Amino acid sequence: MRACVHELFSSIQGEGTHVGEWHVFLRFSGCPLRCIYCDTVQARTVRSSCVVHTSPPSVLHNPVGLDEVLDAIECLWSTRCEFVSLTGGEPLLYPDFILALAEHCPHPLYLETSGVPHSSALRVAHTIDVAACDIKLREHGATSHYGGLVEQEIATIRALVEEGVEVCVKVVVLESTEVDTIEQVASLLEKLPITLVLQPAAGTVMDMERLARMADVAAEHVEHVRVVPQLHTLLNIR
Ligand code: SF4
Repeated sequence: MRACVHELFSSIQGEGTHVGEWHVFLRFSGCPLRCIYCDTVQARTVRSSCVVHTSPPSVLHNPVGLDEVLDAIECLWSTRCEFVSLTGGEPLLYPDFILALAEHCPHPLYLETSGVPHSSALRVAHTIDVAACDIKLREHGATSHYGGLVEQEIATIRALVEEGVEVCVKVVVLESTEVDTIEQVASLLEKLPITLVLQPAAGTVMDMERLARMADVAAEHVEHVRVVPQLHTLLNIR
């Protein structure tokens, strides 16, 4: 079993409801979307090599084998770590690899996904302990098929919830994002046991009053709303 991997490293989880925890990150290569705020552009295309950020770093060759990934995770894992984060790029491009990883990895899995493809989410949901799933906004420019993207994202969130996964739904907020847009997104999540995280895009100047109104309208539809900026960006770490 092989997958195209951009890098593996240990760091602080910088987003969502588990912010501040130490995770080992497995960053897959490739993504079908093109968000304008993307901070992992380098991981959207497949490179011939994958860097394991041990000290000193080591290099694996793509596509990387499951045993090589499992060994790298163990090299990076230490007592402070709580999850292996599957990130990207888009990890759901590799459902077979995730299934095999879940079978052999002794650590809990945290999935960071844009929610597509939904068919992959259905296959791997039972292997995931915690998931952070995006809902993209039209102004993110992620795709020219926006309606279809949101449908898939909501279906992925429902599939994860139905499997008992702890789910955080992340919405990146831009300076241009309207309060009404946040209410529309929150209304799609009505009655789901999720936490909605509003994440101001890195470098965005946010108005406190507008953020408060966004949180208010979202809280009319979902039980838990948080505003969480990217901690790793603030700390300037990977
Ligand atoms: S889904 Fe993630 S990796 Fe893909 S373009 Fe958007 S921000 Fe970048």
